[in-house]
Amino acid sequence: MRAVVLRTHGEPHEALAYRVDVPEPTPANDEVILRVRATSLNRVDTVLRRGYPGLTLQLPHILGGDIVGDVVVRGEGVQSLREGTRVIVYPIVWCGTCSLCRKGLEHLCLRWQYFGMHRPGGCAEYVAVPERCCIPIPEHLSDAEVACLGVAGLTAYHAIEAAAIGEGSTVLVWGATGGMGTFLLQLARHRGAYVIGTTRRTEQAELLHSWGADWVLPTHPPEAVLQAVQERFPEGIDAVIDYVGPATFPISFALLRKGGRLIFCGILTGRETTLSIHQTYLRHVSLHGIYLGTRAELQALIGLVTDGIVRPYVAGVHPLSEAPLLHQRMEAGAIVGKTVMVP
Ligand SMILES: [Zn+2]
Repeated sequence: MRAVVLRTHGEPHEALAYRVDVPEPTPANDEVILRVRATSLNRVDTVLRRGYPGLTLQLPHILGGDIVGDVVVRGEGVQSLREGTRVIVYPIVWCGTCSLCRKGLEHLCLRWQYFGMHRPGGCAEYVAVPERCCIPIPEHLSDAEVACLGVAGLTAYHAIEAAAIGEGSTVLVWGATGGMGTFLLQLARHRGAYVIGTTRRTEQAELLHSWGADWVLPTHPPEAVLQAVQERFPEGIDAVIDYVGPATFPISFALLRKGGRLIFCGILTGRETTLSIHQTYLRHVSLHGIYLGTRAELQALIGLVTDGIVRPYVAGVHPLSEAPLLHQRMEAGAIVGKTVMVP
């Protein structure tokens, strides 16, 4: 089959190769084989390509946590899915028996497997997926739109939940033109929040306003963001969603009001930083790390998209063979919204 394989870690054109002779997967008893209709590029793919800290990938490896596809083969134990059904894949395979799965926290499963990370992903013609990860999708949603939901959309949904965003909340989103930003702004607005978005691309301010940003600020220098927000909100803001990391952490922390929440969901500028324990308790700050979300949250997000309340912003649809170029563009910060690939 056709696929983009990660053959070594490094720069996009050296690490990624488009192949036409990759062996097709075969289904386990509880799995179906999907013919992939679309996948989308996420920040984590570039991190995995460079070498994800603490994780040894079996190379060659197929990236891609976002999968939309048609069921073409059914394992013997598959109960309900029929051939030809179009589905989105919940990006985590959970065991169902560990202590966290039993609490309904399948995204925190102790034996979790993430598509494109712990098992082959969607950058291929076919992929094997357990039946329980497949969610049929309404006909009127396009493949490209649906391909944006499983990773960036779900993480954004979970972040908004974790940040307890509601009517009248104030929230800041760093790098709001990115794939997650598009969802964060729309979801925060939907909940009635006052939304501040930062971007390196201030020429996109109108677009950010259309997604839900009340106020758009240039990301650089972050100290200027702090100054501007503190002038308008001298007591601080309710929540900051930060996937940038050490480069923005001190500013994110300083932006919060007493009792505010800081949501971490990325390591784009490094893995470690310095924290004042003293200020954390004196200011009653909550620090909350997240990745992805629950299957029920993905279904809730699909509902919002089905009802037209949230619209994925597709920057472009490209053939899989362009994956190296698209990785390069993402790392250069040249992509606004979500980039979709089709095999
Ligand atoms: Zn589990």
